[in-house]
Amino acid sequence: KANRKAIIAGNWKMNKTATEAVELIDALIPAVKDANCEVVICTPFTTLVTAVEKTKGTNIHVGAENVHFEKSGAFTGEISADMLVDLGVEYVITGHSERRQYFAETDETVNKRTLAALNAGLKVLVCVGENLTQREQGVTEELVRMQTKIALNGVTAEQMANVVIAYEPVWAIGTGKTATSDQAQEVCAAIRKVLGELYGEAVAKATTIQYGGSMNAGNAEELLGKPDVDGGLIGGASLKADAFATIVAAA
Ligand code: PEP
Repeated sequence: KANRKAIIAGNWKMNKTATEAVELIDALIPAVKDANCEVVICTPFTTLVTAVEKTKGTNIHVGAENVHFEKSGAFTGEISADMLVDLGVEYVITGHSERRQYFAETDETVNKRTLAALNAGLKVLVCVGENLTQREQGVTEELVRMQTKIALNGVTAEQMANVVIAYEPVWAIGTGKTATSDQAQEVCAAIRKVLGELYGEAVAKATTIQYGGSMNAGNAEELLGKPDVDGGLIGGASLKADAFATIVAAA
């Protein structure tokens, strides 16, 4: 893992008003200040201004949870990559399984969002992962390979420096059911293999691959101890400063 950045990112989902976020960020700042990893909080759009302001001069980086792929125009309700960059937002999540499940996100739109974000200068946390049926059918690796390939279609080797892959088995998200560290390792290694095929060994070795899915203060150390698990994307446990800080300390 020597040349890879460990990244612990919180995904707040549709939680916390901007007003409520102040309290959480105030508690997070001292709790994660000695982190040995990169610390990111991905917040709702309405909280981004507050999050960027509050975290100025700290080691906490701010991300959005989604981005539209067009630069501007008649797309009511959508937010462009340039709008995020203009606010001082540094990261964005693409392809989260909740977007795929509830908002008709496809591999193709995940790819378009990823490209738009990278071209605007954002760093992107690209989510991939199988659902329970797919795992039971034994197609996890094949599916995750395909999701990764399509998401990265058109992304250059240089741009890969701004790409993080988050392996998130859908059956483990928000369910309290974590993948075993061996399961997480197996798929993260498979993803790194795909990156090697697409971009060569150097890029594959340098790319941060996170695990996400009910990672918490109790299981983070074991998961993060695996050779190809370079960090975590944290949902529920990112809403509590002490739990999130414990995960950060484990990275
Ligand atoms: C997520 O939403 O990316 C996630 C991993 O959620 P949770 O940690 O709550 O399972």
